[in-house]
Amino acid sequence: MTTWLEIGKIRLTTVPGGRFRLDGGAMFGVVPRPLWMRRAEPDEQNRITLATNCTLVETPQATLLIDTGYGTKLTDKEREIFATESLEGVVGSLRAAGRTPDQIDVVVLSHLHFDHAGGGTMRREDGQIVPTFPRARYVVQRKEWEAATSGLSEWVSSYPPENFACLEASGQLELIDGEEEIVPGVRGIWTGGHSPGHQLIAIEDEGSLAVYLGDLCPTWNHLRQMWCMAYDAHVAEVRRKKPEVLGWLADSQAWLLSDHDPERPWVRIRRDDRREFEIVERE
Ligand SMILES: [Zn+2]
Repeated sequence: MTTWLEIGKIRLTTVPGGRFRLDGGAMFGVVPRPLWMRRAEPDEQNRITLATNCTLVETPQATLLIDTGYGTKLTDKEREIFATESLEGVVGSLRAAGRTPDQIDVVVLSHLHFDHAGGGTMRREDGQIVPTFPRARYVVQRKEWEAATSGLSEWVSSYPPENFACLEASGQLELIDGEEEIVPGVRGIWTGGHSPGHQLIAIEDEGSLAVYLGDLCPTWNHLRQMWCMAYDAHVAEVRRKKPEVLGWLADSQAWLLSDHDPERPWVRIRRDDRREFEIVERE
């Protein structure tokens, strides 16, 4: 399997933030267990394995990181619940790819849930929580920031402040609205649905397109309209928006980048009468 993808002059590399496990029932919402377990085998605690496919984006102008995994701040109890890998997280994968945290110019967060934003901050030896990427601006949709910092009881458990509060204090936070260019060739596109300010990240150059889907479609087992997560804040919006986005990407023969698929970080898809969308296995 190739570990990098060229989109015109832009290079994409998967830099894993570590695997973890979540409850299979929660990952597939209304889909009955006998159906999903044929595609994603649960462990004895009914959990399925997920990746965190953070993506390094190198354009002629800038070096970006899309999502940061769950990071290194989880408690022992949380590590056990989520069966996380004990490793350096995305920073370890960046180092393995010959990159250091201070080379990242921009961190783009699809949303602020722990398995996407957690690696963006770290606990220093003196206990203080600081941005992991000291030079980077961190790009988040304004709606996401507002939900995460609202203090509303329905959002509090989804957004531990240690994963993002220090970004505002350090002056590294940049909020965008709707669809905005982040650097030439890379733009954020608001979707909502999974979380109030969830966004896709589109990478486009010389007629080629790749889109990081975030949790709009977390694995290739979620291509179907009704295969959505119980974690989706507004599941009807996901059911409406996901087929629109997948149709656009199928028709443009774009690369789809998955945040959580444990087998393949990117695929192409085509429309299918019976199954809605199917992975294109070969060109
Ligand atoms: Zn996620």
